[in-house]
Amino acid sequence: MSAEAAIDIDTRLFIDGKHRDGGAGSQPIVDPGNGQEIGKVELADPSDVQDALDAATGAFPAWSRTLPAQRGAILKRAAALLLERADHAAAILMTEAGKTRAEARGEIGRAIETLTWNGEQAGRIEGRIISGAADGSVRHSVPTPLGVVAAFTAWNFPAVLASRKLGGALAAGCTVVLKAAESAPATAAFIVRALVDAGLPDGVVNLVFGDPPAVAQQLLSSPVVKATTFTGSTAVGRSLAALAAPRLIRCVFELGGHAPVIVCEDADVDAVIATTSPAKFGSAGQSCVAPTRYLVHRSLYEEFTEKLAARASSLTLGHGADPETTLGAVAHQGRIEALKQLTDDAVARGARLVTGGRQAEREGFFFEPTVLAGVPAGADIMTEEPFGPIAAVSAYDDFDEAIELANATDYGFAAYLFTDSLYYRSQAVERLKAGNIGINQLAPSLPDAPLGGIDASGLGYEGGAEGILSFMQLRLVSQSAPAHGPYRKQ
Ligand code: NAD
Repeated sequence: MSAEAAIDIDTRLFIDGKHRDGGAGSQPIVDPGNGQEIGKVELADPSDVQDALDAATGAFPAWSRTLPAQRGAILKRAAALLLERADHAAAILMTEAGKTRAEARGEIGRAIETLTWNGEQAGRIEGRIISGAADGSVRHSVPTPLGVVAAFTAWNFPAVLASRKLGGALAAGCTVVLKAAESAPATAAFIVRALVDAGLPDGVVNLVFGDPPAVAQQLLSSPVVKATTFTGSTAVGRSLAALAAPRLIRCVFELGGHAPVIVCEDADVDAVIATTSPAKFGSAGQSCVAPTRYLVHRSLYEEFTEKLAARASSLTLGHGADPETTLGAVAHQGRIEALKQLTDDAVARGARLVTGGRQAEREGFFFEPTVLAGVPAGADIMTEEPFGPIAAVSAYDDFDEAIELANATDYGFAAYLFTDSLYYRSQAVERLKAGNIGINQLAPSLPDAPLGGIDASGLGYEGGAEGILSFMQLRLVSQSAPAHGPYRKQ
């Protein structure tokens, strides 16, 4: 089925309040659900990127001095506009990102919540009085916006990622050059349009697309950029950190994950599968919090594997516009090759392919929902983020072994545990290498809570009050007691 919504929003560059063609030409936008071209995205050349930097620099003094509550009011108005336009936004997101309609609607809903929450929080940004250790001095911290932020968003959650980065940076009083994913540009353009229609002044947010390494190099070598935020692979995160290093630009990175699910001997197999499947197979598994490795107590292993495979096989692959669809497309053909390679490697090393394992025979980019059982620790899929609808199931015998297996990757993003045991729960909180732990439930990335990865999964926090402070400097002010007045020395 073809999409009913073409990309009917301006996907040209947006610099200093105006759309323009890019100096580096354009490239097609492809619907992953059918492989068809649905529009074009304009690409920036160095002079476009410089104009975006100049616009963000020019807008910073006024925006950073705008009352935080007024900045927040614009974010909340943008959220209200996005709510009014939610069906349109979801249709665009579904079409360019290969999602099911329900997933697209859910993501737009989360983007609305994110802009709203950051809008509310903007008016609550506060420093604090630090009393105690400094004799004769009063100290307080003053949060101040850092400056221009270079933001990079990926294609897997184009609405949520743009809202998280823009919500936090704008609430903080920073201006932004956003380089959104070239393969899902219209959703980012849609969010920026809502902000502009809500009254965002020219130059506060500038949206560019282009050759990612070249744009990143130019943005991060500019002296005006004070912070960078990126969501994507660890490899690209490392390259951005290297670009940021010479000028010590602050980095806020949300990188990959490889989430283990520990299923203890007392867990309810049906409940674990019902709870985790939406995260495993939602967005075709292309999420940093998607469960990837199921570590199941040996007493439940066979039952669990068969039931998970039955669940996987029951999914209906298709274009998001088809109401029957319960599993959408992966981003592009390259993802399919990567998923096939991981599957073949696991099987070659002794894993059992229970279901799936290949590209679906239909138009678009679809990989069959896949369950691999008895995956040995040496298989690539146990350490490389699969980022697709593949679940690797392994058995364990005792809890210490499960924790060890869970922690045996460079990643440290989400981890899940299913048990009633208080002992196991407290051990998991203490010992699991994960910035986001779900116990008997998923670990949703809600706007009001700080979320950050450990080791190869990231740097700093997005979300919550901490996510806004990521784009601010806490200036510490120490004042001596005056000769007169309430603080004078006795
Ligand atoms: P990637 O990191 O290469 O690309 C992610 C985004 O970053 C894309 O939108 C891309 O345009 C942009 N990008 C690429 N190179 C860049 C650069 N040098 N500077 C700035 N931006 C750059 O990832 P991918 O190839 O699209 O996917 C491969 C793997 O990345 C996935 O398997 C997954 O492990 C990981 N990934 C993670 C997330 C996440 O949510 N954490 C999102 C996307 C991809």
